Amino acid sequence: MTYQATYTNKSGEIFDAKNHGVVCCSAQHFVQPTDEEMIPLPEGSKFFTLPDHEPLGWKSGSGSAVLLNNGKNDLSAVSAFLPPGYTRLYLPGTYFHTGKGLLPLWAYTALAWKDGEFWVPAVKVDDDKHWNPSKFDDRNLDENIAMKMERLKDNRLVQQLAICARDFHCFAAKNFFLERWECPLPTSPVCNSDCVGCISLQPNGKVKASMERLKFIPSAKEISELSIDHFECAPEPLVSFGQGCEGEPIMQTDTLTEAIRTIKSAKPESTVNINTNGSKPDKIKSLCEAGLDSIRVSINSAVKQTYENYYRPSDYCYNEVVKSIKTASEAGIFVTINLLVFPGISDQEDEVEALIGLVRDNGVNLIQMRNLNIDPHYYLEAVGYPETPGMGILKMMDILKQEIPGIRFGYFNRTKAEF
Ligand code: SF4
Repeated sequence: MTYQATYTNKSGEIFDAKNHGVVCCSAQHFVQPTDEEMIPLPEGSKFFTLPDHEPLGWKSGSGSAVLLNNGKNDLSAVSAFLPPGYTRLYLPGTYFHTGKGLLPLWAYTALAWKDGEFWVPAVKVDDDKHWNPSKFDDRNLDENIAMKMERLKDNRLVQQLAICARDFHCFAAKNFFLERWECPLPTSPVCNSDCVGCISLQPNGKVKASMERLKFIPSAKEISELSIDHFECAPEPLVSFGQGCEGEPIMQTDTLTEAIRTIKSAKPESTVNINTNGSKPDKIKSLCEAGLDSIRVSINSAVKQTYENYYRPSDYCYNEVVKSIKTASEAGIFVTINLLVFPGISDQEDEVEALIGLVRDNGVNLIQMRNLNIDPHYYLEAVGYPETPGMGILKMMDILKQEIPGIRFGYFNRTKAEF
């Protein structure tokens, strides 16, 4: 038995199940991982218990998944939450529909035990050291926040980023105060999507949003002042519109266009990026004309119905997202797909085929393989339970590499020097 199953008790202690192999999930289907799919638990990972979710194990020699708690609810399933830069290949092995209430918005990954250490089904897709959790030491944060607040008095966006850095522990916001790398520019309290797993707004209250949605629209002056300050003091700098604590930046295109023009006239060599749902191709065109350098379009799927079942767009449809990607590529800027990866859905044959078409036919440069943070049951209820398990995320990535020579995988945004 190579990779043993794990489970936890009510006090959160984690145990390995002797003679029981780890059960992983590809959507709701139980699978056993291959050696190639398993890596030692990366530094910076967290453990998440799955209360009210039964722990399962492959009984050696039986080939079937069995309950590890003998039906009693004193033991439950346990999972890992991976650090940025790693894509999970499978969900934890349990029955997701049995939970009493929804799990919080995290990307749960199967957890195994072997040779005295924890293992997970995952792959490292980005080696960018800037986002390693060990780089984010808060000891000087307050002092740096005070210094910036003094330098950029009355700038509401600086005050917002201080909340994001202190209360939401947003790495990008901390970068602004630590004067380095990628700096966030949240600008929009509103959005024209209604994603099932939105991390900043959960109107139906079924699950708690991970962070508070921005409540004001910064002025073009506040945006450009903060950005120019960042470009003047940060090594390897870039600024990004479209953050977890806001709605959709495209909704503020006029303000963004004015801000980008000001930033680019002061700092022509700067990198200005937008993370967006790509819902308005004409607005993307005006941002490119203003000097935008790169775009990251978020999708959970390149299959229209799977996309619309999750994003629940209010005033656009999936075809406009495709048009935005093409518009950006034709404008010559760097184009990234931010794929919200969900094992068992993203690696279905029709999904992979559609993704190949989207990337190949619209000039996409990079695919960020991001883990979708959501209770698997909540997601599968929205997009549908697949009849069969997926082909496997590693196989999906191999096929994409074969079909689209030169395509790159990653997890983080790039500066112009890295395009
Ligand atoms: S596009 Fe972003 S802000 Fe809008 S609903 Fe989806 S996750 Fe939330």
